[in-house]
Amino acid sequence: MHPTKPSPVYTHCCYCLSLCGIEITLDESRERIESIKPDRANPYSWADFCRKGLTAAEARDHPNRLTAPMRRVGDRYEPTTYADALEDISRRLNEIIDEHGPDAVGSYHGNPMGFAFHNTIFFTGLLDAIGTRNRFWVGSVDQNAAHVVQKNMYGSDLLGLSGDVDECDYFLLLGMDPSVSKFGWIESVPNGWNRVLQRRDGGATLVLVDPRRSDSAARADLHVPIEPGTDWAFLLAIVKVILDESLDVTPVAVAMTGMDTLRGLVADANLNELAERCGVPLETITYIARDFATARTAMCVTHTGVAHNEGGTVGEWLGHVVNLITNRIDTPGGKRFERGIVDLAKAFEMMAPPSKHRTRLRGLPTIAGFHALAELADEIRVPGQGQIRAMVIASGNPVVSGPDSAALDAALGQLDLLVAVDIVQRDSHRHADWLIPGTHWLERGELNPGFSGIANSPFVQMSRQVLPKPDSVWEEWEFFLELALHLKRPLFGRHGVNTVAKLSRLVAQRTGRPQLGLNGEWITRGMVAAGRRVRYRDIAGSPHGLQFGKKRYGDLAQALMTPDGKVQAAPKELVDECRRMLSDAAHSNPTYPFTLINRRIRESMNSWLNDVPGVHVNERRNYAEIDRADAEALGLTDGEVVRLVSDSGTVDIPVRITTGGRRGMIAVAHGWGSRAFDPLGDAPTTHGTNRNLLVSSTSLDRLSQTPTFNTTHVRIERIAHSEPAPPESSIGTAR
Ligand code: SF4
Repeated sequence: MHPTKPSPVYTHCCYCLSLCGIEITLDESRERIESIKPDRANPYSWADFCRKGLTAAEARDHPNRLTAPMRRVGDRYEPTTYADALEDISRRLNEIIDEHGPDAVGSYHGNPMGFAFHNTIFFTGLLDAIGTRNRFWVGSVDQNAAHVVQKNMYGSDLLGLSGDVDECDYFLLLGMDPSVSKFGWIESVPNGWNRVLQRRDGGATLVLVDPRRSDSAARADLHVPIEPGTDWAFLLAIVKVILDESLDVTPVAVAMTGMDTLRGLVADANLNELAERCGVPLETITYIARDFATARTAMCVTHTGVAHNEGGTVGEWLGHVVNLITNRIDTPGGKRFERGIVDLAKAFEMMAPPSKHRTRLRGLPTIAGFHALAELADEIRVPGQGQIRAMVIASGNPVVSGPDSAALDAALGQLDLLVAVDIVQRDSHRHADWLIPGTHWLERGELNPGFSGIANSPFVQMSRQVLPKPDSVWEEWEFFLELALHLKRPLFGRHGVNTVAKLSRLVAQRTGRPQLGLNGEWITRGMVAAGRRVRYRDIAGSPHGLQFGKKRYGDLAQALMTPDGKVQAAPKELVDECRRMLSDAAHSNPTYPFTLINRRIRESMNSWLNDVPGVHVNERRNYAEIDRADAEALGLTDGEVVRLVSDSGTVDIPVRITTGGRRGMIAVAHGWGSRAFDPLGDAPTTHGTNRNLLVSSTSLDRLSQTPTFNTTHVRIERIAHSEPAPPESSIGTAR
């Protein structure tokens, strides 16, 4: 009898918030993928489908994939068992905790954990068991500004808004390249860029504010090539014009407070000075403000390009203010609140009360529950009470994702214990004492309740397990749970949970029903039941996803978590920071005359996928993009390798000459230059250059603690051909 061909599996891609519905065909063995294509029956998302989703099987079958726990022995690794790993790691962690306290164990998790809810739950459970407050995450390199603003204005760092693009007549977009990002960041707007372009073709106005002349900028009605790092000044000028000319409108969907403070702030700002700071003519600012305020519907959207600067949080806040004072919050065509399947902000506040911990050295608070990656190297490196001596890195590559890569690499090398849990050993794991294998999302199935709270419409979809994981590999959550049990410390910091875990596992073994053992589904089922908006079995029974109602407006008012139940238009710390920025004169830097800015590449997913062979069809590296006039002034030719030098480091990188952006800046895509190691031998492969070697870990946006990836000052040096290039790796050359 011939094996039957399995039916296609319908799930969603778990690389980015486009969350494309996909259809996967397996061969008869059910262990090999024949094709991955967009699931056109998915009512929410499939149109952004890209090469990352197409090549997901290649990432899963990475040639350097870890398939067993690896113990470091001298300068090499040897495969061993989970039992060995758990025994050794728990013993060493307990010794460190007993001698130095729980904060001596630090943690970091990266972007893939955001798409692995069960792993996230049990990683939290493990960290709560340890009791450490030194928790760091990748969100601190780009999304912190949004969380600070959400907390200040709406009362919770998890109350996000999503662009209601199909009703919008006027798009004011800042710091984004939606033809690449597809409008996704901490909001999910499937097919967002095409929907915006459709609106524009139907008569809507599209204004894109960005220093680069990106493909998106070229499609806009108006591209405003702003001076890098000055979005806050541009937006403050917009707010001032709106208020000075009485174009403001009281919001109808939410109550608000703080208008007097806001008026006081703009009264002290000078429009000519703001225009000069941001390099945008005052006439342009004025007519954008008037058109925006008087459009039938409109939205101002700020993404990572705004966040990656010293005034990032102020810029993010003023973007919300522009929407708020023109009645664009939770109204048609504006920034809408989607309540999702569960009251996310309230649920998480109940499960994980906000941490009051401050870092040992800089005394900075957590944001959204985590400390900033920019502080990690010093917290490991500098001796003293509370110094981090052990780290658990889960699905993350902080050396490449964060600033000052060389310093963090060196710091990780001096830890007493480094445990890396990931599918492949990358640069951040090169000093690891233990490599614990991870899983790919094709091997997991789960419901992530968080996605429905940032969705563009009432929609929920469960991801499905498509392929079996290797027999020798555990899901990460199982390892985290077991490690807490081996530590003999209470999971989630709650006594009794370990007993439940052990007993339920016993029942699961005796009955042959693994789902009876404590697992993440217990939590997600509970959350769905508490939300009372949709039944778990209806979600599970909807392979293409479930639309659970019509798009609504006005739910934000009930979700607000501010003390007075009103949106705070002018939170004190934001107003104070804005005043400080106003009083801080802009200055040039003759030693480093160029400004390094960031950009994205469609096929890249931060430092995650650049080494997957099929992802990049043409070029497998990043470039230093420079305006033609600047290149000619320096005598540079296209493709020439130059040296970029900053206060923090040096990299060698080929030039690409561009046109249409601002002069005096260099755009280099992030996430490149990470090595993928073979722990059993071969030399690692590298693609591209890690531009974050140039970025300081002390030049930060004060409120969000986000590094100034978009305003790093550099100089360009020509390289004599006889001069050897620094190694092409994420570590490069530190200064
Ligand atoms: S990585 Fe590509 S296929 Fe996957 S969700 Fe994002 S846009 Fe869609």
